[in-house]
Order: sequence, then structure tokens, then C-alpha cells
Amino acid sequence: MANLSGLAAGSRVINHVVPGWRMKPRVLDSVLISLLLVSGLTSRGQARTSLPGAAQSESQPNATRLKVTHYDIQAELFPATHMLRAKVHVDFVPQTDLASASFRLNSALKVKRAEEPSGKEIQFKQDGLNLTLTPSSPFARDKTDSVIVEYAGALASAEGSPVEDLKLAYIAPEGSYLLYPACWFPVNGPGTDRFSATLKIKVPTDETVIASGKPSAPVRAADGTTYAFQYDKPSFPGTVIAGKYVVQPATAVGADITTYLKPGHEKFSGPYGETAAKALTFFSDKFGSLPSGHLAVVEIDDGTVGGYSAPGLVALASRGLTTPVNQKLVAHEVSHQWWRCLVSPSSPDDAFLDEGLATYSAALFVEATAGEAAFEDTMHQIAIEALTHEDAAPIAQASRLHEYTPEYNSIVYNKGAMVFHMLRWVIGDDAYLKTMRTLTQQYAWKTLSTRDFQKAAEQASNQQLTYFFAQWVDSTGVPQFKRTWAVYRTQNGYQVIGKIQQDLDIFRMPVEIRVYPEYHQPVNERIEMVGTTADFTINTPARPLKVVIDPASRILKMDDQTKTAVLMARADQLVQQQALLEAIKEYQKVLEINKNSSLAHYRIGETLFKLHNYNAAMEEFRAALNGDLEPKWVEVWSHLNIGRIFDLTGQRDRALNEYQKALQTNDNTQGALELANKYTQKPYTEDTRQAATGSGS
Ligand SMILES: [Zn+2]
Repeated sequence: MANLSGLAAGSRVINHVVPGWRMKPRVLDSVLISLLLVSGLTSRGQARTSLPGAAQSESQPNATRLKVTHYDIQAELFPATHMLRAKVHVDFVPQTDLASASFRLNSALKVKRAEEPSGKEIQFKQDGLNLTLTPSSPFARDKTDSVIVEYAGALASAEGSPVEDLKLAYIAPEGSYLLYPACWFPVNGPGTDRFSATLKIKVPTDETVIASGKPSAPVRAADGTTYAFQYDKPSFPGTVIAGKYVVQPATAVGADITTYLKPGHEKFSGPYGETAAKALTFFSDKFGSLPSGHLAVVEIDDGTVGGYSAPGLVALASRGLTTPVNQKLVAHEVSHQWWRCLVSPSSPDDAFLDEGLATYSAALFVEATAGEAAFEDTMHQIAIEALTHEDAAPIAQASRLHEYTPEYNSIVYNKGAMVFHMLRWVIGDDAYLKTMRTLTQQYAWKTLSTRDFQKAAEQASNQQLTYFFAQWVDSTGVPQFKRTWAVYRTQNGYQVIGKIQQDLDIFRMPVEIRVYPEYHQPVNERIEMVGTTADFTINTPARPLKVVIDPASRILKMDDQTKTAVLMARADQLVQQQALLEAIKEYQKVLEINKNSSLAHYRIGETLFKLHNYNAAMEEFRAALNGDLEPKWVEVWSHLNIGRIFDLTGQRDRALNEYQKALQTNDNTQGALELANKYTQKPYTEDTRQAATGSGS
């Protein structure tokens, strides 16, 4: 899988797990790519960043000045016209006397009227995402107040979305989704202000509605069916999905799961229901059981995020339904039932307690189901992603980054996941799981700050962990280890005496050292490193061949191999952003470290091919064939692309020769052999070009 995922910029991206709604939808879709460019990235691939706290406060100045407690939502969906009509009753408690209250509302939705429960009109103003309500007399501090807001609008595209150019709410005949982060109802403190809700959703009679909470029997009328849901706990029950679904109870034992799939996709019910059940059981066992065991697994369109989790509901985009099951995706979303729905971050700066913890929990599921090697591979991938933008901001300043950007993904999801992984290494498995269970018990239905989390880990482990959080959460920077060692004969074998060094002054971590003796199992040793150097002495039964520092990626660190992977990942991101010339420069940095990197040559070739620079592209594909041939598929795909270039430049015999060489590899990675056969029959042309270069996706 790791190798497969490296093929074409597009296919790599597609094979990459796209877990949460906060992650950019990484589909190779030129429209989306250009949209993403507009949304958050300059042509140089840098994220737009803003001043600390600005991301939240600029559009909602009083997010912390009131606390929403409950929503009563009545909405009607008109798929044929993409229209939503809603009347929402919001209960809230002002934290101070408020002359006006602000909420976030999707700007595709236009408010028609706002009033007090008495019917008295309230003045309102919509400015972009900002909805400001100004009553005739101020909302009084600490006194529960209510407003009723009526609004309507078409949810047909990303227009009006809180995340520029990303559809989070959509109403259409092929299926509708109204995800909570779309702010399709007036939202306060997105992702942090927890609430209960009652929902009444009316849809055409042939549609089914899925939402969080206890359902009532649908009420059918001539002009539509109304589905009602009640969710009593403070959480985030504001996601509604509707459409024509094949509804099947999952057959898995011991879990109450229903799958809602689009007609034709019924075959995924069994495998996905079973995986979700396995994940639910696994996490219940590790973190403590959920108050409600029922889970709906619902398919939504590809036009949005890869997955999203709301209380009792996991939504997966169609592209996430694969054979075999995308285990990481399912486990990631299921784990959000704990890390978001049950316990959520208290501020945007604590966001890694949501996405980072979900990413790591999914890795734990991989460890339990696929074994230690698969887990180490997963953690290695996570480490590379974490390092692609590690210096963008400390985890504790996540609000400086914008969601759905590569930087946010790197810091919050992946470096966040590494923090949990490192914490587990520092305090041990038992204390780690004890910490998790403390969180789900003490903070159930509440918010959790990074300091609360630190306290829980300190109590569970009986260790003072300020140094750990200062280093990994509050700061940027990762160690780069150097080691020197010498071997001595002993009576019973050999002794390795050595020293490790790194540059971070405040560094303090246990470090694993692995020695590989000739013809024997490797020997692991854990040493406590404080500061820039540490000594080690390891006895081995036979002649030591190799000494590796931190072989299982238990520490987020930089080394030559990782550096290459990080440069490759960054360059791939630039390709996705269509910053092709920048991408080539980044691939060239890989060649400065390893001039035989077939993968870097191949990627440069591919990028030059996109730029129609066929001579230079050809040279790079040739260099790829003369390089280290890592990964193996570079060979078949280089021949294929050289063949394409010959076809495009009217040299059919030479093209056929290359396709023949491609076929001889017998390597059908990403359907390479089928393509080689196809081009053998019929020359590759500019017309087939579009389809062919997108073949991986
Ligand atoms: Zn997620």
C-alpha cells in the first residue's frame, strides 16, 4: 500500500486516507485544486496565516460572550431547487449583558425574520458569515434567553460556505447533506460550544433522513415526510443527511449499526458495517463504552470532505467505500464518537484533542487488527506528514492556521497524533489508556483543554509532564539524531558503546536504540536522554552490524530518509496546488540528497509531461529507469510515459517498443499493464491524454 500510494500525484492522493472533515478533500480534480488554491494557498504553496486568534474572532467577535444550550430546528429540504427553508429556535445564556448577539450562518442562507419567543421582532444584520441580532433591550447576563430565526436559501454549491470553496452543505435530488461545520443554522463557537437539539426535517416522500438523536416515527403527508430527532446531551447534533437510501442493519454481532448506502452500493453494507462494529467494540474496550451504542454509517456524495462524524452518525463520501475496506477512515470517524462527540476541545488551540486523537486512535486500531509492522508503517507515514509543515506553528497555536490547509493537516492531525504516540511511549501503555478513560469519565459531554489533558496524564502516570508538553505542544522543532559507536568483544559476545547527540537544548525523552547483531534478533534498549547528548552501552550475543536510533518512530525526528520523504510529500502537495515549477524545485532537492532517486526523477518527468516539455520529461523518465528503481512501479510507469511521449511525437515504433517493455515488467500497479495493452492497440493521443493522466484517480 505504501508503494502503491506513491504512483502519480493524483493516485497517491487518492490512496491516502482522507479521514476527517477538517482535512482538505484531496481529490485530483482540477476544479477542486484551483478552488483550493483560491481558498488557502498562494501559488507558492504557503498557507495564509493570520494573527493568533484572528481566525475565530474576526467573524464572530462574541463567540465566548454567550453560550448556546439548545436548538429547536424545523427545516424543509427542496432537492429539486436546492432550497432549504428553516425556522430555528436558539436557547442561549449570555456571559455578560449583550446589546447584540452574533452567530455564524452560511451566507447562502438569507434571514427573513428574527424574533423573541413573545413574537416581538428583533433587528438583524447579515454580513458575510456574521449574523448579528439586536433586540430592543439587551440580553441579560446569565439569564437564559431565546431567539427565533427564519431563513431560506439555495445550497447548490460551495458559495456561502464557512470554508471557502468547500461544500459542506448541499441539497440536491441525488442526495443532501447538511454538515454541522457548514453553519446551516446559526452557530456559536464552532466546534467548542456544545448543545442539545430537537430536529424536525421535512423531505420529499421518497427520501430518508438521518440525524443525531432518538428518532420518532416519520409523519407522512401528501407533500412530504417529516422526520424528528431528539438529542438530549450537550454535543454537536447538528448534522442532517437525506436521500434515497438502501437501509440495512449491519449483521455484525454485538453492535447496533445501520448502514445507509446509495442504490448499487449495497455490497459495502456488510464489510463497512462489520469494520465499524469492530472499531466501536475496540474503542469501547479501550476508552469506555458510549452511552448509546447505535451508529448509523451513511454514504454521502464525493463533492465534500472524505468523512464526518456527528453523534451516533458517521458519514463517508462515496470515494471512501472501497474493497478492501478503508479501515483507517472508518476507525478515524468512529473514534470521533469519543473524541469530539463525547469530549471536545475547549478552544481552537486545543484542536489536536479532536483530530490528532482521532488520527492516533485509528492507528491504534490498525495496530490491534493489522499488527505491529502495519502500525509502524502507519506511524512512519504520520511522522512524515507531521514534518511537512512542522514549523508552521506550535500545536498550541493551531488557531493561527486555517482548517483544510496542508499546514493544518500537518500540525493538528499528524503532529497531534505523534504527540499521543510519544506520550504513550513516555508514560507506558497502561497509564496512556488510564488517561483516555479518565478523559471519557471526567470530561464526558464537556470540553477539554490541553492543560486538563496534561493533568489527567500526569495523574495516571504519576509523572510531571510539563517538559513534554512544553517541547511538543507549545514549541516547534524536532530533534535530528547523530550517533557514534564502537564495538568491543566480551566474554559472552559483544558490547556496543556509543553516544547519541541532537541539537535541541531542552530535549528530554526516552530514546530507543536498536542493535542488529549478525544472525540474531535485534536487541532493543531504552535510554533516558536529557539535553543534547546521551551515552549507551548494549550487549549483544553476536557481532553487531547496525545501530539504529528510534527504529519504531516513537519520537518525531528528522533524518535523511525522512527528509527525503518530507520533501517528496511537500512537492506532491505543490503538484496538487498546480504550482508545478515550485514542485520541480522541491523534487530536485530530493535529488541533491539522493541523485539516484527514481521516484524524484519520475515525479519531475510527470510534472514536465504536464507542462508539455516532452524532451525534458523523457530525460527524467530515462533517469528514473537508471536510478534505484524504488519503488518498483517506477519502471513500468516510466516505460509507459516514454511510450506516450513517442506516440505524441509521432514515433509509433519506438512507442510500441516502450509499451512492450512495460508489459515485460508484469507489474500492473494502478492498471499499468491494461494501459500498455490499450496503447499497443491504439496510439496514445492528446484526446486520451486527459483521461490517461487522470487514470490513477
Ligand atoms: Zn477527523
